[in-house]
Amino acid sequence: MAIRKIASIGHPVLRQQARPLTREELARPETQAFIDDLIETMRDANGAGLAANQVYQPIQICALEVRDNPRYPYKPNIPLTILVNPVLEPIGSETFDNYEGCLSVPNLRGLVPRHAEVRVRAWDREGRDVDHIARGISAGTYQHEVDHLLGTLFVDRVVDSKSLCTWTEFERYQLAGFVERAGAIVARYGS
Ligand code: ZN
Repeated sequence: MAIRKIASIGHPVLRQQARPLTREELARPETQAFIDDLIETMRDANGAGLAANQVYQPIQICALEVRDNPRYPYKPNIPLTILVNPVLEPIGSETFDNYEGCLSVPNLRGLVPRHAEVRVRAWDREGRDVDHIARGISAGTYQHEVDHLLGTLFVDRVVDSKSLCTWTEFERYQLAGFVERAGAIVARYGS
């Protein structure tokens, strides 16, 4: 396993539409080793998720995991999840404003409207079908990661550019208010 370099905003790989994988490609040892690297790199950087094109591989694989994350202390935990060829489908029309950051957009956060509930269909790393519903703050994390595979970054979805802030100023001026709003979302959606 190895920790990979993470691409920063401005690198064209982050704007590429990632390519879907076949089950045969997914089963190859090099693809499985790549998934191990993706997980290790995500954990090393304290990411809540990491998409393959963030480590310069434009293929449709992303990892998510939240375990008492120090970058996002208000995020509910998400067990380690690998999504291959994921497709998200919004359920209902409700949205909420999520304060997002990204390992590929250093030291910037901003408010992004996200669907409150999405159906997640994908394969896991074994090629088995995944079909579940993600809700609330966790649904925002899923949408952020699947956006990466479509070549979209959270900054593209920021509606009010005045919400943009560095991590220090987020903690100084936004964290307390957002933790309260995030708590209300978690109470409502259970995640
Ligand atoms: Zn990101």
